[in-house]
Amino acid sequence: REYTKDEVRQMVKDEDIRFLRVMFTDLLGTIKSVDLPVSQLDKLLDNKIMFDGSSIDGFVRIEESDMYLYPDMSTWLTFPWGAEHGKVARVICSVHNTDGTPFSGDPRNNLKRVLKDMRALGFKDFNIGPEPEFFLFKLDENGNPTTKVNDQENYFDMEPADRGEDCRRDIVLALEKMGFDVEAAHHEVAPGQHEVDFKYADALEAADNIQTFKLVVKTIAKKYGLHATFMPKPLSGINGSGMHLNMSLFDQEGHNAFYDKDDKNQLSQTAYHFLGGLMKHARSFTAICDPIVNSYKRLVPGYEAPVYVAWSTSNRSPLVRIPNDRGMGTRLELRSADPSANPYLAIASVLEAGLDGLRNDLPPVHNIDENIYQMSLAERQEKGIVNLPDTLHNALKDLAADDVIKGSMGEHLYKSFMEAKTWEYDGYRQHVSDWERQQYMEKY
Ligand code: GLN
Ligand code: MG
Ligand code: MG
Ligand code: MG
Repeated sequence: REYTKDEVRQMVKDEDIRFLRVMFTDLLGTIKSVDLPVSQLDKLLDNKIMFDGSSIDGFVRIEESDMYLYPDMSTWLTFPWGAEHGKVARVICSVHNTDGTPFSGDPRNNLKRVLKDMRALGFKDFNIGPEPEFFLFKLDENGNPTTKVNDQENYFDMEPADRGEDCRRDIVLALEKMGFDVEAAHHEVAPGQHEVDFKYADALEAADNIQTFKLVVKTIAKKYGLHATFMPKPLSGINGSGMHLNMSLFDQEGHNAFYDKDDKNQLSQTAYHFLGGLMKHARSFTAICDPIVNSYKRLVPGYEAPVYVAWSTSNRSPLVRIPNDRGMGTRLELRSADPSANPYLAIASVLEAGLDGLRNDLPPVHNIDENIYQMSLAERQEKGIVNLPDTLHNALKDLAADDVIKGSMGEHLYKSFMEAKTWEYDGYRQHVSDWERQQYMEKY
């Protein structure tokens, strides 16, 4: 719900808020924030907070650098910590140009644009239920993160209570205080790995929630002397961290548009075409949903992460799984996305893929219910199953060739994204690693 200016002024008074944290997200998914003393409240409410856009990744050049932050009054909340210097409230903003128009390089504005296209097709909401996973690592004497975890537990393990468990419980409590509806929080398969699932929300709110969630996890972990990381594959040889996205479209009447009780899978034509779009554009939206060099070390066989472009109602191995729930809970679970993705860009890209399926009645190809990992290459080829890209480089090549997914970012964001990622991959390609020295120093 959107608060009025007067309601905000009242809350600031009642809760004795001293600082305002004004947040937005850059191209790479990093949360940026400006702290304002509460004396600046009126300026904030009047959309008059200015900042230098040229110092933000992927924004603008020096010549056109003045930008304005417009607070989204439905995102106002008070942080449940840090009261010693006065309480801090935060609000998420959209970035605007000096002439008042929304800045197209702001990933949040971009998602709003794609959502508008969706509404033009007759849908009300694109709901996203995210399942972010993360690791908790110990810090060394100097406070730097190590790769040591502080438990040897496993999926859904509970005993004995350790610091990781306590920390996760505190994370859940903090989230609840901030209005999150946490549905599940559990230990994941790898030691030191956790997952917290929160209730689905419309795309924009879900992306905001993901950003807030990461901030909460990192903040609380620090209090426990731990480092929380959303890096997709911090350790080789064990599971990485994904961020499954459960997706559904709701129509104007608030019905789940993916559900049809009369179909053999109880899925609607809308769901099938949306799936068709996901299958068609999977390789190219992977560049956005799995956007860092390290993402591709997670997308390998053997660690519960998807490797092949396929969907199934019964099997967990493919890219898209359709969980058992039907009715309002009917949804498609995209299993490739990882938590290093910019959630605004990632959600816009999968929505654009699905909408392309709807606009062009794309068929839901690649329905595979057998275990793809047990098939030979020849069997896979015969069934037309392709792989997800195996490197950031290859994912970017697919993205560059896909106008639909490029369109999900718009020109400005696409150009900045390609520049940043090409630079990132080049840096990686030129780096000589320990693995290479171990393999080659003595042999050659
Ligand atoms: N950690 C796995 C991944 O990389 C997912 C595990 C699970 O949630 N079943 O996606
Ligand atoms: Mg899960
Ligand atoms: Mg999981
Ligand atoms: Mg899942």
